[in-house]
Amino acid sequence: MNLAHWLHQTARARPTRPAILLGEVLHATYEEFAAQSCAIGQHLATHYNIQKGDRVALFTRNCAEYLEILYGVLWIGAVIVPINHKLHPREAAWIIKNAKASLAVTETGAEFGDEVPLPCPELGLDAFRTLPRDRYQPPQPVEPEDVAWLFYTSGTTGRPKGVMITHKNIHAMVGSYTLDVDQVFPDDVSLYAAPMSHGAGLYNFQFVRAGACHLIPPSQGFDPAEIATLGQRFGNLVFFAAPTMIKRLVEHAKAEGYDGTGNRTIIYGGGPMYLADIDQALDVLGPKFVQIYGQGESPMTITALPRDLVADRTHPDAKARRMSVGFAQSCVSLRVVDEAMNDLPCGETGEIILRGDSVMAGYWDNEEATRKTLHEGWLKTGDMGRLDDDGFLTLTDRSKDVIISGGSNIYPREVEEVLLGHPDVFEVSVVGATDDEWGEIVVAFIVFEHGKNRDTEELDQWCKAQIASFKKPKRYEIVNALPKNSYGKVLKTELRQRL
Ligand code: ATP
Repeated sequence: MNLAHWLHQTARARPTRPAILLGEVLHATYEEFAAQSCAIGQHLATHYNIQKGDRVALFTRNCAEYLEILYGVLWIGAVIVPINHKLHPREAAWIIKNAKASLAVTETGAEFGDEVPLPCPELGLDAFRTLPRDRYQPPQPVEPEDVAWLFYTSGTTGRPKGVMITHKNIHAMVGSYTLDVDQVFPDDVSLYAAPMSHGAGLYNFQFVRAGACHLIPPSQGFDPAEIATLGQRFGNLVFFAAPTMIKRLVEHAKAEGYDGTGNRTIIYGGGPMYLADIDQALDVLGPKFVQIYGQGESPMTITALPRDLVADRTHPDAKARRMSVGFAQSCVSLRVVDEAMNDLPCGETGEIILRGDSVMAGYWDNEEATRKTLHEGWLKTGDMGRLDDDGFLTLTDRSKDVIISGGSNIYPREVEEVLLGHPDVFEVSVVGATDDEWGEIVVAFIVFEHGKNRDTEELDQWCKAQIASFKKPKRYEIVNALPKNSYGKVLKTELRQRL
């Protein structure tokens, strides 16, 4: 079934419910949302000859029209290519060309200019504002294996790749969300504080299905003060936030004496959340957190750590569980294997592989990458981890980030966790640098808390007291900030280049 059917059904069941809000202003009820999406689909088909399977790129900030255009594209069986608006037009143009998109929708319709020529027409949001809505028809049928969403990875490990996400994949993701991550209620207010081009946007589907409300913050981005105000105004906020965003929410709440009122569920994931940070978030904002571990190739669906387990600090294994990413979601089978793809016993670290209905159909136009990543239906995640006897998965690191020093494997995340436990350290990232004697050595990039002692000798003693000396950084680089991509992920490739 076409994913757009969920909108079609909700519009019939709950036509007058508020569907999309821009801050406090109602943008569309469900009936209007469906009528507008249908009209957009028809407009794209009639005036731009967009057919089933054609790609339409969407390069805008989070906005009220985002969901209407997304569903408009799906309505006619075409494929949406959401592009993070924080990318440079050159980077966005690379994606548009790679996807062989037939049309690019941008905010103004003139984002690219002569310097960055596009191979397809560019259309601004204005073009959709006054469409006739008098020829309503249900969405076009599609096959489960038809691509719905061509999702470009954030490129922390190289050039972005187009991940083909099918209608079936998103059905699986939505099913798993409600079974493993959180319940969904019609009174929920789904807030979009992270870019809708990524996981936060993919999470709209369960809220459309339930007839819940979608709230676009007036800042169209992430502003902790605004989230606090919206929470107090609406209550029942549910939103996705990357670990760096949670850190900022907590800082703001501490400074303003805000206790998290109005947030129902905060979903975190997409990068490592350190123990000290989640504990502080629980203390300041309350037991409202769920964790997901996913990747573009199995979006939002590898494991989940439900609310009760994130919040539990009394169970004998509570600490280890909070440091884990939880257990496999219902739509996947998960294994930890060695290089020959043999299963490893619990407690041993290897590569995480999985299969299930959420796993991508492959990379767009890139058979070689698909062959390297999908083996007989098993997705090789490139992440290293270990399972415990109860099925909790702990990520040790991405295989590309593992440091091999003097023949020993060192997982940067373990060293980062120790350094971050020091009260003067605000942020840290650990990478390997090539070394004649050891092959690689451990280098820690440190951002100190504002106004705190910048004494690396003390940090060295701190590490010595907690981890084996071969894991201890051989070098400390003090920096004012870590290089991050627009999703807030640390760009380790850039740090390695600096060395
Ligand atoms: P690229 O594949 O182009 O390098 P990327 O790694 O940023 O880009 P994404 O799909 O955005 O691609 O990120 C997925 C990765 O993020 C996972 O493979 C994992 O390494 C990390 N990740 C996701 N969720 C979590 C989590 N809860 N805890 C720790 N790391 C996570």
